[in-house]
Amino acid sequence: MKYENRVYNFSAGPSILPLEVIKEAADNLASYHGCGQSVMEMSHRSSEFKKIIEDAEADLRELMSIPDNYKVLFLQGGGTLQFSMVPLNLLRKSGKADYIVTGSWAKKAAKEAQKFGDIRIVASSEDETFTYIPEVKREDFRADADYVYVCYNNTIYGTHFPYIPDTGDIPLVADMSSCILSEEIDVSKFGLIFAGAQKNIAPAGVTIVIIREDLIGFAKPETPVYLDYKTHADNDSMYNTPPCFAIHIAGEVFKYLKKMGGVPAMHEVDVRKAGKLYAYIDGSGFYKSPVREKDRSLMNVVFVTGDADMDKKFVAAAKEQGLVNLNGHRSIGGMRASIYNAMPEEGVDKLIEFMEEFRKANQ
Ligand SMILES: *Cc1c(COP(=O)(O)O)cnc(C)c1O
Repeated sequence: MKYENRVYNFSAGPSILPLEVIKEAADNLASYHGCGQSVMEMSHRSSEFKKIIEDAEADLRELMSIPDNYKVLFLQGGGTLQFSMVPLNLLRKSGKADYIVTGSWAKKAAKEAQKFGDIRIVASSEDETFTYIPEVKREDFRADADYVYVCYNNTIYGTHFPYIPDTGDIPLVADMSSCILSEEIDVSKFGLIFAGAQKNIAPAGVTIVIIREDLIGFAKPETPVYLDYKTHADNDSMYNTPPCFAIHIAGEVFKYLKKMGGVPAMHEVDVRKAGKLYAYIDGSGFYKSPVREKDRSLMNVVFVTGDADMDKKFVAAAKEQGLVNLNGHRSIGGMRASIYNAMPEEGVDKLIEFMEEFRKANQ
């Protein structure tokens, strides 16, 4: 197996995985720990796979200190299917939900929810192209709302909630697809957290849902059985064949994170990596971050030169140096360096070095 030609991959998702995890998976690809079969081939009802999914759940519970009254579900359909499952299951009393729209993903989620209930946008930062996170107070929410919805880290715009909105007794739902496991989170402050795995955890194919038990069991009667959280909770995520291989890799990433010192240790490195990149951008006199300082994401660092052609030239030149996928989302252009947990600090150092060379040659 050859690993020398690995590039620094700044993709927003699917994204970089720890090389150690890839090597471990490769070593066990044809015969998982000597059992004679690959995880890609084995029955999801086998004792080997049962241990894989149970260990993955136990390790995630430990990493995030998930309280016992929460279920952990390994689902399919990506973050996008949660845009539908959340309203189908959680609009259980008044049929009302309040959404904070801080980017394209939250906007899509709100639009989907509108099919199923009375959805109000309580705050939006679209007026300034989603470059900040609006401040929202408890009084802003309807007292009888069934839930409040936020996208905690906005992958496309590079923003992150600097606070957990106070919703009182109203369950708070958070899309943490691009920031889960990058910071300690008090899970008890949320009714439901979900994350597509392909940003900060694993390959695409598995979506993690962490849901408070008292919110399960209220799906609208017409809800397809597969979109009812109760179906998956009652069957330990094995109602049907789960995405076995993606769950296996997620489990390996959890083991790796535990070995690295858990979430606090990852957070410390994430703060250092993002800190030096933003400091360089702000001091460069060439690159600019469009994002309000206190709302900046640790995971997705968005920047521009102010000249779209120069941005394109930058992305192409960086690729030549093995720094790939630095283009911004196709909807906004510019640059974006996604520096998830798996991006080594050395990758960020190399990026900054390259940015400085490029600045000198082009300013
Ligand atoms: C990528 C992303 C999504 C969509 O995820 P899919 O798995 O492609 O459906 C949703 N929310 C956020 C915050 C994302 O970054």
